[in-house]
Amino acid sequence: MSRSAHPAGPRHADVLPEGHYTAPADDLNALDPKVWAHTVGRDADGVVTVGGIAVTQLAEEYGTPAYILDEADFRDRARAWRTAFGTDADVFYAGKAFLSRAVVRWLDEEGLNLDVCSGGELATALSAGMPAERIAFHGNNKSPGEIERAVRAGVGRIVLDSFQEIVRVAHAAESLGKRQRVQIRVTVGVEAHTHEFIATAHEDQKFGIPLADGQAAEAVRRALQLDGLDVIGIHSHIGSQIFDMSGFEVAAHRVVGLLKDVRDEHGVELAEIDLGGGLGIAYTSDDDPREPHEIAKALSEIVTRECEGARLRTPRISVEPGRAIVGPTAFTLYEVGTVKPLEGLRTYVSVDGGMSDNIRTALYDAEYSVALASRTSDAEPMLVRVVGKHCESGDIVVKDAFLPGDLAPGDLIAVPATGAYCRSMASNYNHAMRPPVVAVRDGAARVIVRRETEEDLLRLDVG
Ligand SMILES: *Cc1c(COP(=O)(O)O)cnc(C)c1O
Repeated sequence: MSRSAHPAGPRHADVLPEGHYTAPADDLNALDPKVWAHTVGRDADGVVTVGGIAVTQLAEEYGTPAYILDEADFRDRARAWRTAFGTDADVFYAGKAFLSRAVVRWLDEEGLNLDVCSGGELATALSAGMPAERIAFHGNNKSPGEIERAVRAGVGRIVLDSFQEIVRVAHAAESLGKRQRVQIRVTVGVEAHTHEFIATAHEDQKFGIPLADGQAAEAVRRALQLDGLDVIGIHSHIGSQIFDMSGFEVAAHRVVGLLKDVRDEHGVELAEIDLGGGLGIAYTSDDDPREPHEIAKALSEIVTRECEGARLRTPRISVEPGRAIVGPTAFTLYEVGTVKPLEGLRTYVSVDGGMSDNIRTALYDAEYSVALASRTSDAEPMLVRVVGKHCESGDIVVKDAFLPGDLAPGDLIAVPATGAYCRSMASNYNHAMRPPVVAVRDGAARVIVRRETEEDLLRLDVG
């Protein structure tokens, strides 16, 4: 980490304000491959290209703001996860990061499974032809209607999140004459975020059934007695944007402890453990995520070691990456509308989107980087804050970054690593129309989710 409140190099103000930013890169025109999708580069004119298409052309055809998704990169990353975990483990893409029918088809073709957490996500998955047995259904308060639809469709697993749900799913399965495969989601008292994890975190959260006070063991006890349920394993998800594997180590230790207790009490060795998702990506050049094959190796070693210690057969592992697959594959393309220098502070750059297409900065204080995309520039770096056009002062897209000092209205700028939790969390605040997702591959672009229109907004308003 090379954060500094006094970045070296040229700057546009004598005194830099307090902030959490890195020194400007030596070359502001360079595109760090860590944060940009695989096929992103610049053409001979200095324009950013993706999949062989210039962003100026994309802006002209599809307008701004727009999410531009590198399909080849998405497939590469999905395949890398699939290959890393091999045939002895399952990879479930977490649909909540970003889901569309095109994405479902890519996942299907690349051999991944899919997590959904609502009736809407389930409907999208099924309508795109994802085989139901490769779908896992999550959520802490699935409605009876959602449960029935999932059981009827034949989803591969439902992840049970409460005592009430154990009964509800069993009841739904029995009344349909089925036996539903289920996992029980436990909270292991580990909380992991980015570079730190807390092994003694309180189980003070809405997800899962606490392990520490014996509730998880009781949940297994009850579920095993119900004819409608086929208890296949235990599920644990410990956090998000995780780089440090030690949180998984503690989680696996505790989950395997439960498997051992279940074996001792019921004579049943549960066949699967799901370690959830949460693997981190590079939002800025300071982040160093691990490769899927390193993660697969680490998780497999951890689980094998724990099971040997407990004299258990090693269960089948599953993982649920969302962000790590789709996050780096897309960037948001904006047009600069106004440039407002505040002497001694920073320059506010307003774009034609904002918190309606990326709520993560306002919600989580997330960090992003940004680049001038429609041209290169040799102008001195200036400290900027990229803000949206919404009526809210917290409407910030990129809190602190450097852009060339000659940035002007009409320039296109691009914010990388917006593939996850941006379109899926987008809103209509200020009656903004949610941007399209444009997939680019081998010199061809196509809209996979179209831009909302005023007619879309007015259609819901039945007045
Ligand atoms: C959100 C979530 C994931 C995916 O998290 P990422 O950070 O996108 O990898 C996986 N599993 C569960 C249960 C989740 O809630």
